[in-house]
Amino acid sequence: MSPSVLSLRATPSRDERSVLERVNELIAEAARSNEFQRERLDDLVLRSLDDLRRVRPVDKDDLLADQQEHPPFGRNLTYGLERYVHLHQTSGTSGSTLRVLDTREDWAWWRACLHDVFDAAGVGASDLVALAYSFGPYVQFWASYEGAGAVGANRIALGGMDSVQRLETIREYSATTLVCTPSYAVRLAKVADQSGLKDALSSVTRIICTGEPGASLPVVRAQIETLWEASCFDHAGLSEVGAFGYPCAVAGGIHLNEREFVAEIVAPGSEDPVGPGEVGELIVTAIGRKGFPAIRYRTGDVVECCEDPCPAGHAGRWLPGGILGRTDDMVVIRGMNVFPSAIEQVLREFDEIGEFRITYYNEPAAMDEVKVEVELAQPNQGRAIQARLRTRLGLRVRIVPLQPGILPTDSGKARRVVDMRQPHRRHLSPDRRPR
Ligand SMILES: [Zn+2]
Repeated sequence: MSPSVLSLRATPSRDERSVLERVNELIAEAARSNEFQRERLDDLVLRSLDDLRRVRPVDKDDLLADQQEHPPFGRNLTYGLERYVHLHQTSGTSGSTLRVLDTREDWAWWRACLHDVFDAAGVGASDLVALAYSFGPYVQFWASYEGAGAVGANRIALGGMDSVQRLETIREYSATTLVCTPSYAVRLAKVADQSGLKDALSSVTRIICTGEPGASLPVVRAQIETLWEASCFDHAGLSEVGAFGYPCAVAGGIHLNEREFVAEIVAPGSEDPVGPGEVGELIVTAIGRKGFPAIRYRTGDVVECCEDPCPAGHAGRWLPGGILGRTDDMVVIRGMNVFPSAIEQVLREFDEIGEFRITYYNEPAAMDEVKVEVELAQPNQGRAIQARLRTRLGLRVRIVPLQPGILPTDSGKARRVVDMRQPHRRHLSPDRRPR
């Protein structure tokens, strides 16, 4: 089959005709009563899923601009406000916070998608799922809570607790499953070690991660599995789209839920499908979400296109590396696609590192270079870090060892990465694998 990503490999659970019918139903309803979608859809009726490509993709900026023009909820609403029963926000600075509404039916659809996530991870009626998220307007906690309930598991919310209280709660109830971000799974295990609470980890047999790239990467997954002596699973989703990826329990990575989503993988900045082994941006259409539709939505998530089925033959296109990063974060250095998260993961493998800062810059000879300033208790570790980055990323990185305490401690992701290259050099290369 050609790499056209809309002609996805048929899988046992996927009825091509019913997906097409359902997408046409979604389009018809959105074109009828959703002002934002109407102008994109005209009187479109798809004869095949490939016809979807006649619809111009939209992204988060389009939704944000619409909400700024038509506050507070914008026009991507298929029904009157009285039909909506859930309001969530994406995290972001003011002006970049997206508001997302769900009807009762759409929320049931979320629940069904999260059911598939927990079911794929083997969670069932005998499990107690602990959710290490704060409450708040973000969909992640609420949807996971629903999904765990949908497979019949009991649930305990760990919002409003610090890490020690969370560990004590996990221990008290012998929770079997932990849901959190990959970096928090690592942090919580370290707190357990430092606080004499290592026995709190013993009842947990699986960790289900989401919220940031990482849990599909072998290094991160292995680190979590070693710290917790438990299995680590990944899944993926976005507030404005839904939970489109569920874990592959056999081979790692995630599967796209092709029963509920039509997925395309395109070269960054274009609409051209990428071929096997290439990386691209995921565009999805959420088939069952009608109240706040996502039709050809650019997720900003970068994935590698893999045509092979997973070793277990599960349904749904397999993404062995899960979400590799965000299109915003990916840069091209000497022909290699580089994600700061990949550099960070290598750094984190070394025990005594402190804060760090990644700088992309141009040499006078116009070569792109990467410099990593990193706080090291032992400055001679710099060589080992450089060697490992070279092996792992195939990239020469300049390491500048710093004394601990020099870099600001409160550095979010944005402040850890500095791009000093000429603007014209920052474009993405669509045709190279990430390193
Ligand atoms: Zn699988």
